[in-house]
Amino acid sequence: MNDKALGLSPELLDYLCANSLREPELLQQLREETAKLPASLMQIAPDQGQFMAWLVKAIGAKRTLDIGVFTGYSSLVVALALPEGGQVVACDRDPKATEIARRYWQMAGVADRIDFRLAPALDTLDRLLADGQRDRFDFAFIDADKSNYVNYYERCLQLVRPGGTIAIDNVLWSGRVADPTDTDKSTEAIRAFNAKLYADDRIDLSLLPIADGLTLARRR
Ligand code: CA
Repeated sequence: MNDKALGLSPELLDYLCANSLREPELLQQLREETAKLPASLMQIAPDQGQFMAWLVKAIGAKRTLDIGVFTGYSSLVVALALPEGGQVVACDRDPKATEIARRYWQMAGVADRIDFRLAPALDTLDRLLADGQRDRFDFAFIDADKSNYVNYYERCLQLVRPGGTIAIDNVLWSGRVADPTDTDKSTEAIRAFNAKLYADDRIDLSLLPIADGLTLARRR
C-alpha cells in the first residue's frame, strides 16, 4: 500500500495507516492507476494527502494553489477538503499526466473547484500576480521541479495572505540532503532551499518528517 515514510519501519507505517488512513475509494483508485506509470514515485503518499486535507480545513482555506499536478492526487485531496465555493488553481505543463488528473476530478465531482492551468507554473504564478491576486490565497502546495523551488516559493509568499500556509514536498529527498557526497543538481537545490527557509524571518517554519519530508511555512 503506502511505502513512503522516511525512517519508519514498514511494520510501523502499516500500523500508522491501518489506524489512521481514511482514504476515499476514488483516491485509492487514482493511486493504484498512477502506480503503473514509470514516474509513479512523483505521487504523494496517502497519509500525507490526508494531513494536507486536515491542514486545509484547520486553517479554513478557501483558495489554494497546487504547483505540480502530475496525476492530480494533491489537487483532488485538497479540493475535497475545501468548503463550498472553494478553489484550487492547479499548475502543470504535462498534458499527459494531467489527463488522468482531470478524469478523476470529474469523477469526484470537484472539477468545477479546480482551475487547471496547462503552462509552466512560473508563468501562471506571474500571471496571477499581474492580475492582482497578491494576498488572495490561503494555502499553496509546491511539488514540482526542484531547481525552481526557490522561485515557486518566492511567488507563493506574495500570493498567499499573511497567516496563510505554504507546504513544500520532498524536502528530505529520500535522505540524500544529509549525504555530503551527493552533489546531484536537485539535491543541491533542495539543500539550498532548506537553508534559505531556515534563515527566512518572513515565515514561521516547521519541517515534518512525513513521507519524503514536508515543510510548512506560515507567512507572517
Ligand atoms: Ca513530491
